[in-house]
Amino acid sequence: MAQVSGKVAIVTGGASGIGEACAETLAREGASVLITDIDDTLGKGVVDRITKAGGKAHYMRHDVRDEAVWPGIVAEAEKRYGRLDIMVANAGIGIMSPIATMTLADWQRQQAINLDGVFLSIKHSIPAMKRAGGGSIVLMSSVAGLRGAPGLAAYSATKGGVRLLAKSVALEHAADNIRCNSVHPGIIATPIWEKIPTGAEGNRRNAPIDPRERAAATVPLPRVGEAQDIANGVLFLCTDAGNYITGQELVIDGGMTAGGRPTR
Ligand code: NAD
Repeated sequence: MAQVSGKVAIVTGGASGIGEACAETLAREGASVLITDIDDTLGKGVVDRITKAGGKAHYMRHDVRDEAVWPGIVAEAEKRYGRLDIMVANAGIGIMSPIATMTLADWQRQQAINLDGVFLSIKHSIPAMKRAGGGSIVLMSSVAGLRGAPGLAAYSATKGGVRLLAKSVALEHAADNIRCNSVHPGIIATPIWEKIPTGAEGNRRNAPIDPRERAAATVPLPRVGEAQDIANGVLFLCTDAGNYITGQELVIDGGMTAGGRPTR
């Protein structure tokens, strides 16, 4: 029995990494999925794979910061699939820079994609979820939203913001049967690690390193996290099995934040 059979989802940043795994998992479990991203080639590739596997998916180019386009995205989900039940606000970037030398432009770009984009995802999905009689909103935070991240202070500020945004939205819309939770991945092997741009002043000491090296150094479980590990948690929050969970944090980090200090 598919776990989200008949539900309709939007996944932002669904062309790559964690978003791609979320889109494929939700589709495999019976949801119709509208994937948005700024990478058309990868986005259409995900749709092709889902369709070939017998699932339902559609791709639309959309930068999460562009508010004017948001109503059209939600309308397309409703027109094509009849309703909107699930929003996975996943699109995000990481800009690495020491805070003392970070440019305002880098700071604002980091906030705009990771925080403004999430705000707009929530704002524009709520009316459609009300029409559907409820829904599940999942916000992609990070372990960097639970504790500080030197060299990634601006990123950490966005992910901490996302964490409390989820709780506030959960309280504001509980009466509408709309749930909102944050998911906090640890070190997950996705292309984001190759893409992390170094801020204008840079910081070689904190330069991105291979997630496998980071995992070996700081993660108790003896393997690096995979995008599917996060998609499994997102799926759970969107199924009926998770339908009494709202305003909570689901940490999926191989035990990284379980203790006060790195364990290995
Ligand atoms: P990724 O780079 O593989 O995927 C991110 C996707 O977002 C890409 O397809 C990209 O094109 C898209 N995107 C970027 N800017 C966009 C914009 N303005 N509008 C629309 N789409 C945009 O990275 P990922 O690791 O899969 O990251 C997904 C989310 O998970 C991010 O929010 C990230 O911060 C979070 N996260 C990742 C890790 C990790 O270790 N990989 C850990 C914690 C949190």
